[in-house]
Amino acid sequence: MRTHVHTLFGSPSGTQRTFQSLHFGPTDSGRRALLQCALHADEIPPLLVGHHLRRRLAALEAAGHLAHEIVLVPACNPIGLSQQLWGRHQGRFEVNSGHNFNRHYPDLAADAAARVTLTDDAGTNTRLLRAALHAALAERTVETELQSLRHALMDLAIDADVVLDLHCDNQAVMHLYSTPHDSAITQALGQCLQAPLALLAEESGDFPFDESCSMVWPKLRALLPQHPVALACYAATVEHRGEADVTHALASQDAEGLLRFLATQGFVRAGVDAPAPFACSLRPLAGSIPINTPHAGVVVFHAELGAEVQAGQLMVELVDPMSGESTLLHSPVDGLFYAREQQRWAQAGQKVARVAGFEAKRKGKLLSA
Ligand SMILES: [Zn+2]
Repeated sequence: MRTHVHTLFGSPSGTQRTFQSLHFGPTDSGRRALLQCALHADEIPPLLVGHHLRRRLAALEAAGHLAHEIVLVPACNPIGLSQQLWGRHQGRFEVNSGHNFNRHYPDLAADAAARVTLTDDAGTNTRLLRAALHAALAERTVETELQSLRHALMDLAIDADVVLDLHCDNQAVMHLYSTPHDSAITQALGQCLQAPLALLAEESGDFPFDESCSMVWPKLRALLPQHPVALACYAATVEHRGEADVTHALASQDAEGLLRFLATQGFVRAGVDAPAPFACSLRPLAGSIPINTPHAGVVVFHAELGAEVQAGQLMVELVDPMSGESTLLHSPVDGLFYAREQQRWAQAGQKVARVAGFEAKRKGKLLSA
């Protein structure tokens, strides 16, 4: 294992923060998988998954079982890790700017396409395009610490064939986000992680990290139609259940699942079990329908997280303790009740539950702030 230390610039206080990337396996094979933990820094399950992955990858490397480079960033957001406010960890938005740590990654396709001369060989073109993407990224202005973090993470990801961004939800079952381009790979990832759900979108809005890594390739292909351009990066976001699902048993299971997936993609030759049969349901992100609260109140759930529910089924009772009245909220669609709010006092207009239906019904930006 080789450790690289990445230094961030532009801290508002003038101090400097760093993060580490751990590089396992051969670096000269031309293939890389990147796994990064807790870009939303208050999502703790991926930090424990990364801890288990580090040990397992070291053992697999020592046994000679790694066919290609696997890069693990065990804690990828030192800015967010440091943010404690009113006695609570705040890791989703940068306190200084208010920006979400997982939005606004650069769209480098046009800049890279403009500077490259391609050949008739797709493999050569992938190498040329990666060099052009690095050059395009290097030209982007970095003024703030947050831009510096985004820049450093993208720089590691440009060379990756597989990018897995490890997160968690508030309270949720294991689920995935990806694009519809490689649904067989998403299916394999869901099977290996025993995730019952994957939510797919070409563009979910505001350039989250995984989409910036993968969607640059279809964009390059469209911009350069006279030459062969491979879709050179598969990327997905893995939601490791809910914030409080932090146990060694779950983290070890998830780390093994990720290693099994890397084996299906050719990165691990031996030393992991074959994936057990498991059906992951691929559904449109635009079919994930929130249940909104019409007024403030105490949230009492009437459906089990992880259940397939029916349209019209009672999901939530919203109790107004002032009036003594309750409002009943029902599922808008048939679908999987996959995520819900942990906080049990809801404001008016809050999304307290999400049901993943089968039909794309929503338009515009598909992710929450
Ligand atoms: Zn997240």
